[in-house]
Amino acid sequence: MQRGKLLIIGFGPGSEQHMTFRAKEAILEADSIIGYSTYVDLIRPLITTQDIVRTGMTEEVSRAQEAVRQAETGKKVAVISSGDSGVYGMAGLVYEVLIQKGWKEEAGVEVEIIPGISAINSCGSLLGAPIMHDACTISLSDHLTPWDLIKKRVDAAAEADFVIALYNPRSGKRTRQIVETQKILLKYRSPDTPVGLVKSAYREREQIVITDLEHMLDHEIGMLTTVIIGNNSTFIYDGKMITPRGYQRKYTLNETEQQLKPHERLKKEAEPWALHGGIEDERQIADRPLSPQVLAEEALSKLVIKTKRLENSRQKGIEFQQEDIFEFAVSPGIANKKITPQQLAALVETVGEGATLEYTPDHLIKVSVKTSNPSEMTENLGNAGFLLLPTGDVVNIKACDFCDGEKADSIPQVELLQQLIGGISVPKQMNIGFNGCGMACYSAPTNDIGIIYRKKGFDLFLGAKTTGRNAHVGQLVAEGLEGGKLVDLVVRIIEDYKDRGLPNERFHKFFKRVQVVEGFYYKEVPEQVVVDMACGD
Ligand code: SF4
Repeated sequence: MQRGKLLIIGFGPGSEQHMTFRAKEAILEADSIIGYSTYVDLIRPLITTQDIVRTGMTEEVSRAQEAVRQAETGKKVAVISSGDSGVYGMAGLVYEVLIQKGWKEEAGVEVEIIPGISAINSCGSLLGAPIMHDACTISLSDHLTPWDLIKKRVDAAAEADFVIALYNPRSGKRTRQIVETQKILLKYRSPDTPVGLVKSAYREREQIVITDLEHMLDHEIGMLTTVIIGNNSTFIYDGKMITPRGYQRKYTLNETEQQLKPHERLKKEAEPWALHGGIEDERQIADRPLSPQVLAEEALSKLVIKTKRLENSRQKGIEFQQEDIFEFAVSPGIANKKITPQQLAALVETVGEGATLEYTPDHLIKVSVKTSNPSEMTENLGNAGFLLLPTGDVVNIKACDFCDGEKADSIPQVELLQQLIGGISVPKQMNIGFNGCGMACYSAPTNDIGIIYRKKGFDLFLGAKTTGRNAHVGQLVAEGLEGGKLVDLVVRIIEDYKDRGLPNERFHKFFKRVQVVEGFYYKEVPEQVVVDMACGD
């Protein structure tokens, strides 16, 4: 006798265009087709000479048993499920029946599971891109699963911020489950969390509704509806439900840093979580110089403004908190390099044990901390005497300690520079090295911009290559500059770099590409002489 075969087919949402090639092929090659009546009707155009076994909705076990029985007689039997046969479909049930009979793959009937598009995917595609991130499916049918267990799963998924696709949300008799589910979800999510309701996806009577958690029950929900609940980041844009893909929301003092490099793939309109319209957009360096305090305060005022959603939640007394990764840097000051024990203790106490503290080559302590209350944190650190700075692609001013303040002549200029341009966004992170005398013991000329004060005035270096085997110092472009002129000049250079620099372009590359910056011409760096090592290494 010919070896029988079970073809367990998921035929997707119902339209032929959304059925896989293999699913169609398997239906055509089967001797018989077994399925729920409605599903058989959905694949009617593909039925030719195959025998048909149609059963009612709750007769899955008898369908599986009949399929196995027929396959054991040597037939090729197609068992059809809508969506994916392995997601609330027939695949598991058929295996259960086979296992009960002692089936082994080697000698028993052949089994092929043919995947299809499940409702979470088909309905998701009609709503926009609500899945995108960690998601789960939960069937609200307590026909085969105890309701207490379903409730636990809803609770856990809601708390863990999964996007949730609810299958079988309601039927004629089973109406309370979706109401209880909504209540559980509202414990963890804001009432205006986007919710998508899709009925009969890709079928004749398709219906799509985008609503929110508070109002979802005002709409028709039935057995043919899939309910997709957004997570805390999901938003609605132009009638589409979209969940951003990024895993972390990192904020620093003056901007939101997206983890989506290469740069600027997203536009502001598509980043409702971002802190746009901030200092970056408003600031006019020349017209409105900002002190570090003003810069930090403005940034923080934006940072602490939570989304409308969070505000709504709080007003309604809902415990809903989104933890953001807040990144910033602290230092004891521009010229001051000494951190007191009290400051260190305040730092540790403020950021907590869960924070990451990284001491950088730029004489800063970079803090990365999960928090939903960054303003309290920065206020405490400000009170402890720390200078707070943004991180990322910003201007970092690295000054020497001016011989413990003994060589203080040029400190006003470096403090003014910090006030005017410290921490502002530039195409790529850059350092301005500032040393208080010709000893240059803090290596000012090895920074993107180097400044050395000497009795006559300031020397300016541009375009050092700060890293790599061919690292080199910057080009000496001016000597003996008067203090006011130096500050104006450096501010203009930074403005030019901001305007004409390409995303991610380091300053030395920018200088080389544009050739002239503020009247200073780029000069090729002499090639290095390679000397063979006597030892051959
Ligand atoms: S560069 Fe000059 S002023 Fe600065 S710490 Fe060194 S010796 Fe002192």
